Amino acid sequence: MDAVMTNQCPSPPRAEIQVDVDAIRRNVALLAGLAAGSGAQTMAVVKADGYGHGATEVAAAALSAGASWIGVASVDEALALRAAGIKSKMFCWLHTVADDFASAVAAGVDLSVSSPRQLSSAVSAVRAAGREAMIHLKIDTGLTRNGCLPADWPALVEAAARAQADGAIEVAAVWSHLACADQPGHPSIDRQATRFDEAAKMAVDAGLQPLRHLANSAATLTRPDLHFDLVRPGIAVYGLNPVAGLSVPLRPAMTFRSSVSLVRRAPAGESVSYGHTWTTPAETTLALVPVGYADGVPRALSGRMRVWLAGRNRPVVGRVCMDQIVVDCGDDQVHEGDEVILFGPGDRGEPTAREWADAVGTIDYEIVTGMYRPRMRRRYLGDPCPGDTHAESDS
Ligand SMILES: *Cc1c(COP(=O)(O)O)cnc(C)c1O
Repeated sequence: MDAVMTNQCPSPPRAEIQVDVDAIRRNVALLAGLAAGSGAQTMAVVKADGYGHGATEVAAAALSAGASWIGVASVDEALALRAAGIKSKMFCWLHTVADDFASAVAAGVDLSVSSPRQLSSAVSAVRAAGREAMIHLKIDTGLTRNGCLPADWPALVEAAARAQADGAIEVAAVWSHLACADQPGHPSIDRQATRFDEAAKMAVDAGLQPLRHLANSAATLTRPDLHFDLVRPGIAVYGLNPVAGLSVPLRPAMTFRSSVSLVRRAPAGESVSYGHTWTTPAETTLALVPVGYADGVPRALSGRMRVWLAGRNRPVVGRVCMDQIVVDCGDDQVHEGDEVILFGPGDRGEPTAREWADAVGTIDYEIVTGMYRPRMRRRYLGDPCPGDTHAESDS
């Protein structure tokens, strides 16, 4: 039942991100079910390497669980997914002036267009690619970040309709992004929805037949009336709930594990780690864990964090260093090689990414997205263990 417990590799990890692919599938099935209830399809957002979980693996899992589109920020991210064999409908929305639209069009990646300049880049790319470009026109309905301002919208729609009539592009969608969907009832949500309706209607009036998409995770969970034709959940795919106080059976997919590398007994009065910010009040057992801020443990958690070790949460004492933390285990029996959980889904009472985020004044998006680093091992539950050449595939 508990996949985390039954899928441990025998060799204790130094720093490991474990990704529960089943949890991702179940989260996507839940989201796609909500969308289907409104007649909408689901685009799983896997930008930033799948919020740290691995874009290709998450995309494959999401597509197997009811998503029919994959969304990423950049052309490069989209092309990497194509190279990895992801063949679904795919959309990217954040471009530099140098981005390779021709390769994107040739690879069948839909492009967002926020301005006449981006539209002409897309039209030029069509000549190079020898294939029609699928375009999603982005209206800025009030996030005031990317997108076309309402005042410039009629001209952009008209130019896009001309390019479509010329056979260069197809306007596949009109879309926008919400500013405050994680605060249900925030007045900006309805204001943005009204502007979105108006913008989509203008496109229809210009003879276009676009899909409409607006909802991120929060709106997918709380605003079925804003699902339109397609929803774009990101964070909820990974099992993190963006709406405070909303009860929804999502399961966090990421667990951050390490193991005890050294156990020592320390007498009373010994000060621990850089700056000597903590001193043993009595004789105690200290466990050294070989992860630090280079592995994504925020140094700002120094003196304020716990890890799950030998059956319960225990305080990390002294400073979080680049590569190491020290755990106070009192008089309990702990052993070198014991598993340490830095954060996980929380079922055993271990800390969660949300707890870290709250403690350092950020959101869990930033915690999980920042976790994957070059010296981190990332494992998918069900994968063979590293070095285990006898593992059989169970698929
Ligand atoms: C990141 C992103 C999403 C997903 O947002 P979540 O809050 O993670 O669900 C959807 N659309 C756009 C344009 C995004 O940038």
